[in-house]
Amino acid sequence: MTAAMRVGIGFDVHRLQEGRPLILGGVKIEHPKGLAGHSDGDALIHAVIDALLGASGLGDIGTHFPPSDEKWKGADSLHLLETVVDLLDGRMLYVSNVDAVVICEEPRLSPHYDLMRHNLAKSMRISVEQVSVKATTMERLGPIGAGEAIAAQAVALVEAQM
Ligand code: MG
Repeated sequence: MTAAMRVGIGFDVHRLQEGRPLILGGVKIEHPKGLAGHSDGDALIHAVIDALLGASGLGDIGTHFPPSDEKWKGADSLHLLETVVDLLDGRMLYVSNVDAVVICEEPRLSPHYDLMRHNLAKSMRISVEQVSVKATTMERLGPIGAGEAIAAQAVALVEAQM
């Protein structure tokens, strides 16, 4: 059996809005604002999903979970991630590793890295060592630096069994 490695990239950004819970990597974080969106607004998981779909040549998050579909309103993004991993499994595509960076001025995310990695690993059915989460600020530059939005980038390596 031979294996081919495939790499994918994902990016997402959501506006911060009052009256919404802040959820990143499936972790509810204390903050006066949360991420706006049709689902729970979890930009980190959305970036990971797009990286997985990109590596697999299976389109993007909007293809699979269209915001026009009421079914995904308020959806738990960890559940969306599980659904995508099921899709990959069915095609004999296995996640080798994921590396992600959240771009966020506030709050500080480092205390939540462990739980985010745990949540992501569990939903992808891989070990915590195969998942990396980190964060950086925008040095107060631009809308993210002004605390108006949070963005995330991710890369994923997927192994195709042939
Ligand atoms: Mg999104």
